[in-house]
Amino acid sequence: MNKNKRLNATGGQKAKVVYLLSGLIWCGECGKRMVGSSSTYKTRVTRETRQRYYYLCNNADRTNTCNNKKINKSSIEEYVLGKLQQDIFSDTAMPKLAENLYAYYSNSKKETAGEGDYLKKELAKIDRQIENIVDA
Ligand SMILES: [Zn+2]
Repeated sequence: MNKNKRLNATGGQKAKVVYLLSGLIWCGECGKRMVGSSSTYKTRVTRETRQRYYYLCNNADRTNTCNNKKINKSSIEEYVLGKLQQDIFSDTAMPKLAENLYAYYSNSKKETAGEGDYLKKELAKIDRQIENIVDA
């Protein structure tokens, strides 16, 4: 976000806008996904052309069947990133997250171990077949 801000300020090369939440947030009115979009407007005093960035409901965008309002891009992104920091990357939430990740990792390791036994048997079978072919 900071990189984009700097590029925009120089007015030179047009910065690529990243919509962090595109397709990850849903409309509270109709339940469709919300997507990132932008429009241009002129400033009131100097009449400069500027870009406005926002998220809007996919239904509102494509079929006009939803009246939910556009949400300012930076407002919603700052809110969501703040919630992530507070609820996931906080001192109280991190140990719980680590515990769950460890449990998940332990389970997947068991599956992999079982898979290893199966592959060893398959390899032994193939080795025997190769020996048979060589013998023949
Ligand atoms: Zn909607």
